[in-house]
Amino acid sequence: MKHVKESIKNAALLAHPSHHATLAIFSDASDKTAGAALNQFINDSWQPLGYFSKKFSDAQARYSTYDRELLAIYMAVKHFRKMFEGREIIIFTDHKPLTFAYTKSNTNSESPRRTRQLLYISEFTTDIRHVSGSQNAAADALSRIDAITCPSPIDYNQLAIAQERDSDTIKTLGLQSNLSFKEVNLPASNIKLLCETSTSYIRPYLPEEYRRTAFDAVHNVSHPGIKTTRKLITQRYFWPSMNADVGKWAKVCLQCQRAKIQRHTTSPLSIFSPTERFEHVHIDIVGPLPTAATGHRYLVTMIDRATRWPEAYPLCEITAEDVAKALYEGWISRFGCPATITTDQGRQFESRVFASLSRLLGIEKTRTTSYHAQCNGIIERWHRVLKAALKARLQTARSWISELPTVLLGLRAAMRSDTGVSAAQLTYGCNIRLPGDFLSTTRDDVIMDSAYIDQLRDAIRNLQPMPNQPHGNTKPIFIHRDLQTCEYVFVRIDAVKKPLQAPYDGPYRVLKRDSKIFTLQLPNRETNISIDRLKPAYTIAEPDVPTDTIPSTCNKQLTSSASELHKPSNSLKHQNDNNLKHQNDNNLKHQNDNNLKHQNDNDLKQQDIGNNSIPTRTTRRGRVIRLPVRFARGGIL
Ligand SMILES: [Zn+2]
Repeated sequence: MKHVKESIKNAALLAHPSHHATLAIFSDASDKTAGAALNQFINDSWQPLGYFSKKFSDAQARYSTYDRELLAIYMAVKHFRKMFEGREIIIFTDHKPLTFAYTKSNTNSESPRRTRQLLYISEFTTDIRHVSGSQNAAADALSRIDAITCPSPIDYNQLAIAQERDSDTIKTLGLQSNLSFKEVNLPASNIKLLCETSTSYIRPYLPEEYRRTAFDAVHNVSHPGIKTTRKLITQRYFWPSMNADVGKWAKVCLQCQRAKIQRHTTSPLSIFSPTERFEHVHIDIVGPLPTAATGHRYLVTMIDRATRWPEAYPLCEITAEDVAKALYEGWISRFGCPATITTDQGRQFESRVFASLSRLLGIEKTRTTSYHAQCNGIIERWHRVLKAALKARLQTARSWISELPTVLLGLRAAMRSDTGVSAAQLTYGCNIRLPGDFLSTTRDDVIMDSAYIDQLRDAIRNLQPMPNQPHGNTKPIFIHRDLQTCEYVFVRIDAVKKPLQAPYDGPYRVLKRDSKIFTLQLPNRETNISIDRLKPAYTIAEPDVPTDTIPSTCNKQLTSSASELHKPSNSLKHQNDNNLKHQNDNNLKHQNDNNLKHQNDNDLKQQDIGNNSIPTRTTRRGRVIRLPVRFARGGIL
C-alpha cells in the first residue's frame, strides 16, 4: 500500500529543476485541447517540471491534425519558454509527420501560420522527435482534460431501468398535463433516458428512489435556501410534486437549520404580580471593583421588588458563605425572610450553602436562565444607577467604600418617576431627611396615640407597589408558533463564538414548556432555557406520514411539524402576520389570544389541504392555476 501511495505521489509530483539535465517538452493535442509536460531527464527517467493544458478556440478546433499538433507544440513552447530559454530542448510529439517539419525539402507550400509557428519554435529548438502515444501519457491526458468529469451521484444505467418500471406513471403524466416526455440519448453512451422537454431544459424523469439522492447532490453543495434549491433542481430533474418535496427536504436540512438565522424569538416581558413589601428580593453581585483600603472588592446588592428598597454590602471575597452571611445579616435581620429570592446563575447562588440557607428559612429561590439576565432585570438596572452615582461621587472623593452609604441614602430618598414616591416613603411611610434639609418634614405636634398609629398602619397598607412597565425601545414581539408544538428545538449560542461556528446548537428534545421557559434534554443533562434563545426544529416524521393521513389538529406534536413541512410557504406569511399583529402588543394576554387565533387559522388551513379543496381557477389561456388559500379568502375568487 505504501509503495502504491509513493508511486502515485511521485508520478505527478513536480521535481526541482536541475541545470545540467536534458529538457524535453512532451506535447499532444486532442480535438479540443492542447496538452504538454515539461520534463527533465535525471537518473534514467523523465521527471516533470510543469504541466500545461489549454482549450482550443472553435476555429483552432477545426484545424487539421497536423496543425493542431503543431499548435500544441507552439503553445507549450510559448508557455514554458522562461524555463528553458538559453538551453537545449527536445520536443516529443506522437504525430510523426511533425518530426520532418524542419527537414522537408519543399517548405514553400507551408501556410503562413505554420511558417510563423515553426519559426517561433526554431528560436529554441528544431529537434522534434516522435514518441508513441502510450509513452506520452501525461500530455495525452492533459489534452483530453475536458473528458474528465465529476462522477454523477446517479447511476444512469440503473435509472434507465427504474424509469422503465415507472413508464405507466410517466405516460399518464404526459397525457394529463402539458408535459412532454422524450427518450434522450446520454452523451457518449448508448443509455436512453426519458426526459421532460416542455421547458428549455432537458430534465430526466426521476423515479422515487432517486429523488432524495438528486436533492442531496444539488442542495449539499452550498446549502442554498428553499427557493434557490428548487430552482436548481427543477432545471436539472423532473418528478411530480417536486416543488413540495424539495421544499420539505430543504426545510428539514439540519445543517441549514443550525447555520441560518431566520428570525429571533422575542417573547413579551413577563409581568411580576405585585407582591407584599419585602416578600420578593432580587440579589446580585457587583465587581470586582477597585480594591478599597479595607480590602473590599465586591458588592452584594439586593433590592425589594415592592418598595425598591436597595441595599449594597461590601465584601472582600464572594464565596458562597460570605454571600449567604451578607444576606442574613444585612437583609433578613432587618426586613425578615423574603418568600422568594431571584438570583442569576452565579456559582455562589447555586452553591449548597445558599441552597441550605434558603431551605432553612423557607425561601423559594428562582434563578435566571443562562444568557438571559432579563428576569433579574430590576437589579441589573439598579446597578447602572448605583455605579453612575458612585462614579459621580468619586470625582471629588477618594474611596468608593466611604461614599457608598451616602449614595445609598440618596438613592433610597430619590423619587421614582413612575410611582412618584421614593423607596424610603414606601418603606417607612414618610421621606427621610437628607443632609442639608432646611425644614423638617416631620410634624412637631404628632402625638403617638393609638388613632395615629392605626392611621399610619392603614396608610402603609394602602401603599401599593406599581406593576412593572416595559420601557425603552421594546422590540416587536415574535414567537414562532411552532414553538408551542414542536418536539425538538435549536438553541442559539449566545456565548462568544469561534469564527464560522454555527449560531445554533441542537436539535434538543423539549421535555417541558411554558410561556417563557423550556426544559430541554441536553446530551448529558436537563436544563431550563429562555424561549428567546430557541427556534423550532423541523425533522421528518419517521416513518414518513403521507399528507392525507395527517390529522388536522396541530396539537399532535410530531405530525404537526410534519404537516407544517407539507406547506412551507405558509410559515412565512404567518410570521408576517404575527409580526404585524404583535408589533404593539406587549401584553401577555394578547399574545395568548393571538396564539390561539393562529392555531385556529392553522387548523382551518390544514383542513383545507386535507380535503384537497384548494380552489382552482382556469385562466383565459386555459391554464389551471391553484391560488394560495390566503388569496382565495381575500375575495379574489
Ligand atoms: Zn441544507
